[in-house]
Amino acid sequence: MSSKVLHEFLQPQLEALREQGLYNVIDSIEGPNGPKIKINGQTLINLSSNNYLGFSNDARLKAKSIQATEEYGVGAGAVRTINGTMKIHDELEKRIAEFKHTEAAIAFQSGFNCNMGAISAVMTKKDAIISDELNHASIIDGCRLSGAKIIRARHQDMDHLRELAKEATTSGEYEKVMYICDGVFSMDGDVAKIPEIVEIAEEFGLITYVDDAHGSGVMGKGAGTVKHFGLSDRIDFQIGTLSKAIGVVGGYVAGSQELIDWLKVRARPFLFSTSLTPGAAAACIEAIDVMDSHPETIEKLWENGTYLKAGLKDLGFDIGHSETPITPCIIGDENLTQKFSRRLLEEGVYAKSIVFPTVPKGTGRVRNMPTAVHTKEMLDEVLKVYEKVGKELNVIS
Ligand SMILES: *Cc1c(COP(=O)(O)O)cnc(C)c1O
Repeated sequence: MSSKVLHEFLQPQLEALREQGLYNVIDSIEGPNGPKIKINGQTLINLSSNNYLGFSNDARLKAKSIQATEEYGVGAGAVRTINGTMKIHDELEKRIAEFKHTEAAIAFQSGFNCNMGAISAVMTKKDAIISDELNHASIIDGCRLSGAKIIRARHQDMDHLRELAKEATTSGEYEKVMYICDGVFSMDGDVAKIPEIVEIAEEFGLITYVDDAHGSGVMGKGAGTVKHFGLSDRIDFQIGTLSKAIGVVGGYVAGSQELIDWLKVRARPFLFSTSLTPGAAAACIEAIDVMDSHPETIEKLWENGTYLKAGLKDLGFDIGHSETPITPCIIGDENLTQKFSRRLLEEGVYAKSIVFPTVPKGTGRVRNMPTAVHTKEMLDEVLKVYEKVGKELNVIS
């Protein structure tokens, strides 16, 4: 039972959220997070994971994880800077840097932690950060933590970015100015305009920071959005996660040697939180090796994304303007969106509704994340269910 003060804070807010249909109910899955999942005994086609390449339950990764666990143990035993750095962590960072075509890389326990550590290691209250308005929550929190002035940029509006960059760098108010954005925006699936960003950043002397959590393993043959545009040496910070396409857990920053040297002494989650487990590190290395040696895995992901998008569009759904396999199906009203998702679930399709505050009010959507391990039969079944539910709820005619 909460204390009286806590109860009086929590109770009315929880009630309000539930009344507005904004309270997110969490379902636990029984077994691995694959193309099909089991919830409450019901088998469902899963379109809600970030397990883009199917790696989270891949036999090759599991074998490496078990092997490293046997060799090093289940835990690293300390933070990286005391004696929690094992050979397997060094190897992972070396492999990430090679794969990303950067001088060096540093691994963190999560992508979220990267943003907590990396931004505030460089930016201070004397600086400004221009931040795309649709940036991920961890970017927003990382920016806040740094104490820098946060300047909100209209989503993917390069004229606005240029204006803000000019203003911030000529005002004399700030020592440094950073531009920060997602590489792939996870709610809409659109891709950051890296070539224009580089051009503007170089013109005005901005530090650049691209969080490619949804681009790693997906764009640029797996190496990410920046590599996709061939601009690996012109973006200062390339953040990636090891928790999405890589299928395990963790995050990293790839960049110049001096940046990584600095983060190793200043990024607080690296200094004060225990390192990745050896099993996770080993599985991540294997994931990178598999991406390298089996490019068809990534091709399959894109093929499935294209197939699902075309099918939903043909049925008359609004799928927005995604440029990646992420396929939003925009319903609008929050309650209708949640009802839609619930009906999909009853019909055997697990596709989560995403509503305010994750996305703006009135743009509720069911977000579909096809992966490389979905079969065409599964996607056809998904389309059949979408057609049925869409007509039933008058979302399509
Ligand atoms: C998912 C995500 C993160 C968090 O990554 P985790 O490894 O799950 O902590 C960070 N940034 C962006 C842009 C993301 O989409």
